[in-house]
Amino acid sequence: MCGIVGYIGEKDCFPILIKGLRRLEYRGYDSAGVAVFDGESTINILKKKGKVEDLLAFVGKDIPPGSTGIGHTRWATHGPPSDVNAHPHTARFGRLAMIHNGIIENYESLRTSLETNGHAFVSDTDTEVLIHLIDEVQNRTNASLSDAVQMALKEVEGAYAIALVDASEPDMLIAARKSSPLVIGVGEENEFYVASDATPIIEHTQNVIYLDDEEVAVMHRKKGLIIKNLQNTVITPEVHALEMQIEAIEKGGFQHFMLKEIFEQPNSILDSIRGRVSVSRSEINMSGIDAHWDKWNAAQRIIIIACGTSWHAGMIAEYLFEDFARIPVEVEYASEFRYRNPIIRSNDVVIAISQSGETADTLAAIKLAKDQGAHLFGVCNVVGSSIARETDSGAYTHAGPEIGVASTKAFTAQVTVLTLIALLVGKKKGLLSTQRFSRLLVELKAIPDKVQKLLEQDARIKEIAGHFVKSENALYLGRGVNFPVALEGALKLKEISYIHAEGYPSAEMKHGPIALIDEEMPVFFIATADDVYEKIVSNIQEVKARGGRLVALVSAGNQELKQLAEFVIEVPKTDQALAPLLTVVPLQLLSYHIAVMRDCNVDQPRNLAKSVTVE
Ligand code: GLU
Repeated sequence: MCGIVGYIGEKDCFPILIKGLRRLEYRGYDSAGVAVFDGESTINILKKKGKVEDLLAFVGKDIPPGSTGIGHTRWATHGPPSDVNAHPHTARFGRLAMIHNGIIENYESLRTSLETNGHAFVSDTDTEVLIHLIDEVQNRTNASLSDAVQMALKEVEGAYAIALVDASEPDMLIAARKSSPLVIGVGEENEFYVASDATPIIEHTQNVIYLDDEEVAVMHRKKGLIIKNLQNTVITPEVHALEMQIEAIEKGGFQHFMLKEIFEQPNSILDSIRGRVSVSRSEINMSGIDAHWDKWNAAQRIIIIACGTSWHAGMIAEYLFEDFARIPVEVEYASEFRYRNPIIRSNDVVIAISQSGETADTLAAIKLAKDQGAHLFGVCNVVGSSIARETDSGAYTHAGPEIGVASTKAFTAQVTVLTLIALLVGKKKGLLSTQRFSRLLVELKAIPDKVQKLLEQDARIKEIAGHFVKSENALYLGRGVNFPVALEGALKLKEISYIHAEGYPSAEMKHGPIALIDEEMPVFFIATADDVYEKIVSNIQEVKARGGRLVALVSAGNQELKQLAEFVIEVPKTDQALAPLLTVVPLQLLSYHIAVMRDCNVDQPRNLAKSVTVE
């Protein structure tokens, strides 16, 4: 969600800021802006509603000079997208400029008291209130800017990642965060980058520092970096080496990031298995589980907390944990869980799933669970992210950077990792027979090749997609582990093509959705071979009898459904517990092609953000 980028060093910063903002575009935004300090007297602020392209058109040839600057892509929370509400915001008649990601929850009361003290505001944003508060605190106390930032942030409730420049401090860039991500890139001597994630940084440096909550970083062109917390304690930063490669965040010949990421799944699934599974020794090794086995062994319940696509991965895990490890599982929307006074016990294991590791609701939910003594396990894709750091242990998904807003490879990587955990816990508890465990490992190892086989059907799936471009509704139906896949298929279609779609357990259809079925309604059935296959066939008959347009995902070789459905897509056979890793792939491709044919912006769908850092 929204992007922050900043630079201080010897180079011209405008091109660095713009390139950085382009890298962050995938996060979703509605306006863009920069502040470039000329190093003498003027901070040039250029900002525009719309895309980075609109900002560039507005700037034209008048590139602002300077080697200290900040850039922002806004995802509006307070006030509509507009030139005025776009960041950076200023105080002190333009001599103090700031960008902000997040929400200042007590901004109204702060604004009222600032207005009483003579501050005037031009925008609707909470951000402008914060920069005026910093100004006010500095005026009141005569403190240095960094001390004023610390003091002002103590008065603030809510979430922020900020970066600011001051015209009276030509060699300084300040950044701070709480509950919103911020990474500092350490460049050449006394050269620093700041960004919401590592993507704008990797082409400049591999050395990064992940700022912690309530830390303020002062980056100085002559004095280097000093980090303090809000209690004024100096923090010794830990410099990490980024493992990300630049190719991972470029399209590599694909028309869209989403398509590239769908096609990366054979590798990303393999990468999530790699180093954890030995088929020959019939073993799974996951240090995050092994090191805390007492907690898992004693667990009376697993609570899975997630949002969106990650919640669907959690739903699949529910079936697997209950089947393999016989531990009761609750899968919760983080946003509901955190506000409903949930019962959390010290013998609960809480699994938090989040691609970005920054999802605000999930982060808040795990803090709640931690306070009540549960064991916290994180499943995240972004190394060093807040959830990865807040949890007691965890497992990374190793899917590589996911740029498309609609999650694809991160989902299958999550399902892979969760499957491994369920298998490992089931085995260690002695509830999975050696035979079944070994067979599942062999099957799991074969999944990447089977995904590859599915991807080879892309042209045919595209052709099927062509028949549904004008649909305005769609139903996705599945049972067992494929019910969450139906939910995920529906979510994929609605988020990128804007077609209204719903997923249901197929037997539930007769309790409502069947009323929607007519000859216009596409119904996507996941009907691969499993214990409930015959039941699904009956559900398919019910839709057929009412004239619905049937598309069925079937196991390779199935003849029966060819007679019933308008289209069938064959899915390689596997153990039914692993089916979601395959069945979701054609649904991703169908959504992708339908959305492209409808001329939708698949990588940056309207109103959506990649990393949802607000509640
Ligand atoms: N709350 C701020 C605004 O509405 C920042 C939103 C964002 O994170 O982009 O301007």
